[in-house]
Amino acid sequence: MKDGIPLRVKASAAVTRGSAWQGSIPVAKLPRLAASLADREGELAVQLQAGRDEAGAAQLRGRISGGLGLVCQSCMKAFRWPLEIELELRLVGSEAEEKRLLHECEPWVAEDDSLQLHAVVEEEALLALPLAPRCPDCGSKNE
Ligand SMILES: [Zn+2]
Repeated sequence: MKDGIPLRVKASAAVTRGSAWQGSIPVAKLPRLAASLADREGELAVQLQAGRDEAGAAQLRGRISGGLGLVCQSCMKAFRWPLEIELELRLVGSEAEEKRLLHECEPWVAEDDSLQLHAVVEEEALLALPLAPRCPDCGSKNE
């Protein structure tokens, strides 16, 4: 397992070698994510592994965790929301392929054989953000 998460890697080579990475990415380095948060503090701990699934399809698996600053929609106080996600993406080479697979799995387009690892982490973290965050004090009372 390599130290650090590269910005991008060559998708085909990473899949063939079964490359794996682990490291952390500061939230401030992920501008779209940072813009959705109450602050730009903290970092994400990331583990990623490229390879093939049982059927031989290229995939990227991994885990992302970290504390993200959100504003509680109940008491309007800022708090740290614990992000903890596992991802399993099918790597595809075109948007046509992405459309075709959309209902079977979660595809990720590695255009021109370029796998954008930071973009994957940012996108997955954005997808995981709660629509109406609640701090631990307000809890899930009204959910
Ligand atoms: Zn609250």
